[in-house]
Amino acid sequence: MIDHAEYAQAGRQAVVAASIVCREVQKNLDAVRSITKDDKSPVTVADYAAQAVVATVLKEHIGEYVMIAEESSSFLRDEDNVLILNAVVAAVQEVWEDATPDAVLDAIDLGAGDTSHHRYWTLDPIDGTKGFLRNQQYAVALGFIENGTPTIGVMGCPNLAVDMSIPFDERDDHGCLYYAIQGEGIWETRCDDGNAESIRITRLDHIESEEISVCASVEKAHTNVSDTDRILDWIESNNLGKAGEPARLDSQCKYAVVARGQADAYLRLPTRKGYVERIWDHAAGCCIACESGAFVTDIFGHNLDFSHGRGLEKNKGIVCAPPRIHGLLLKAIKELGIGVDAD
Ligand code: AMP
Ligand code: MG
Repeated sequence: MIDHAEYAQAGRQAVVAASIVCREVQKNLDAVRSITKDDKSPVTVADYAAQAVVATVLKEHIGEYVMIAEESSSFLRDEDNVLILNAVVAAVQEVWEDATPDAVLDAIDLGAGDTSHHRYWTLDPIDGTKGFLRNQQYAVALGFIENGTPTIGVMGCPNLAVDMSIPFDERDDHGCLYYAIQGEGIWETRCDDGNAESIRITRLDHIESEEISVCASVEKAHTNVSDTDRILDWIESNNLGKAGEPARLDSQCKYAVVARGQADAYLRLPTRKGYVERIWDHAAGCCIACESGAFVTDIFGHNLDFSHGRGLEKNKGIVCAPPRIHGLLLKAIKELGIGVDAD
């Protein structure tokens, strides 16, 4: 039997440690760029470092486990990339002082599990890499999946303020962290301190404002912006509600933003045929949003099905919102024929 509270606490400690590493890399983006001579490398360094740290801290707390994580160590094992490996080890040493290259590589490989198990962690060490590079929002996202459903979600949002009056593009000094256990609720705490007080915020009453506020990706390749506009226009023209200008932020922080009642919906509408969402981009966020009382489905109203390997093979796009607004959005999507040719 699994003690979900113990697992959630282990996940929290792992995500806090990884978030500390990410923040340090982000503070020194220029230095990392100059070592690695490559604009993509700061992300690479932080991704690998965060994965190594999450894997190691989880092991310290709960022993053996299966994890499916986004990164693999093969790039770092190539001698040509030794400078990047050294930068990763230096980043990891922020929280794990005596880390060695071999230990870091082995830790990254703990994320190479397979999905044939009934229970596994899934990790996106840095979700929203573009946001990370822009010094904006990103998330360290760790979910625990049991029989195709996320039962624990832990999400570190190192640049997101707890205070909802602070704009998304303002980088916070502490960040916030949400963790949820299926059927038990959500807790909010700080992202930079594993001993900080956690406050239970389960089942927020989604206070519906005059305007329906939607949040969506910054990257236009990740969500269909014109379809979002068509949906909001449809709701307005049918006198079903007024729509505000969508808020744009990177990463699955968007799920947390809905869960805490700051936005009424997270919409992710397919941009290109055949794109399959990755499980690590949604497991943590889905668990957190569902625990707030929001519905999380694809654009056809199907529950997200995490039982098809590394991709959400049976789903298209994402609609996350409290029940009434979720219903409105699905109706608009159907009426407008959005996604009918997305396969
Ligand atoms: P976001 O920050 O919400 O835009 O999401 C970032 C995630 O989008 C990345 O982790 C990618 O896995 C994912 N992604 C990459 N390409 C696409 C695409 N064409 N459609 C949807 N998501 C994508
Ligand atoms: Mg991602």
